[in-house]
Amino acid sequence: MGPVVQNDDNRGCSQGSRRCGRTGIRRGRGRTGIRGALAVLALAVLASGCAGDGGGVGGAIRPAPGQQPDKAALPEAPPARALHAYADRLRAAQQARVAAARRWGLRKVPLTPPAPPAHKPEITTRKGFEVDDHEELGLPPVFTTIPTEDKVVFLTIDDGAEKDPAFLRMMSELKVPYTAFLSNYLIKGDYGYFKKMRDLGVTLNNHTLHHPYLPALSYARQKREICGMQEVMREQYGVRPAVFRPPFGNYDQDTLRAAKSCGVRYAPLWDEEVFVDHWEYREPDQDLHPGDIVLTHFRGRGEWKGTMPDMVRRFLDKVTAKGYAVARLEDYL
Ligand SMILES: [Zn+2]
Repeated sequence: MGPVVQNDDNRGCSQGSRRCGRTGIRRGRGRTGIRGALAVLALAVLASGCAGDGGGVGGAIRPAPGQQPDKAALPEAPPARALHAYADRLRAAQQARVAAARRWGLRKVPLTPPAPPAHKPEITTRKGFEVDDHEELGLPPVFTTIPTEDKVVFLTIDDGAEKDPAFLRMMSELKVPYTAFLSNYLIKGDYGYFKKMRDLGVTLNNHTLHHPYLPALSYARQKREICGMQEVMREQYGVRPAVFRPPFGNYDQDTLRAAKSCGVRYAPLWDEEVFVDHWEYREPDQDLHPGDIVLTHFRGRGEWKGTMPDMVRRFLDKVTAKGYAVARLEDYL
């Protein structure tokens, strides 16, 4: 067992890097291509100062009398009015991001992630993190990084103790995606807070009923912890999550068998953890990497020297300074 990140959520995690080689699925002429082309066109319109407003379809692309229309060009050229509207939306969105970043005290505006991959990367269990017969039994993969070449990281937030309304506002104003792993004993006093979170587009996932050290429990009790939480999630939020994170990052074969039995398909851990006043890294290079999953917790001044927004500020300032965008984990699963 190699060095471990020093925190309570990391017992039993061994070292061993698996950077999964060439795994980033390149997007061809998919959404990115179209979006990119539109952006170029929109920039052209912006640069032209939107001259000729109100021209609608026609103008440059209307063929002269007796001339055949350029069949290749026609479908590519959207109406000028639509382009102007698109450019206006781009400009407004960027202005909103700049204003939100300033309002929340960020050093820089967070980078926009690329479009979700058209083909999902193949997720496999990190080397050294397998249980007996992991693949043969088709157990959910355990991983700390998503194989991608995109310069993105994923923010995951665990437990659910702190329920700070300012955090919800901050994340939705900044449009930064994240994924929550919830433990019932911490959220049952206020399921509504996480309903709001879900309504803002956040995926809520399973982190057991009572946050036990699972390997100490029998298969039956592990199943109660994991599958019991699946039922709570279905009752409260309408879906049984496909994603589960074992408390403290500790699991054994029974954990993954139990999770699989009630619909769990992925068991992500993390490669870094961010606190309100520092970062902790799993890898010896003490750095971020494309596709890294970052852990933090719903904690506030009771446990930290700061608030959830203080922690997010620390997280985003580093991620942006290193040239990474924050992407949605579920888009890559
Ligand atoms: Zn936890």
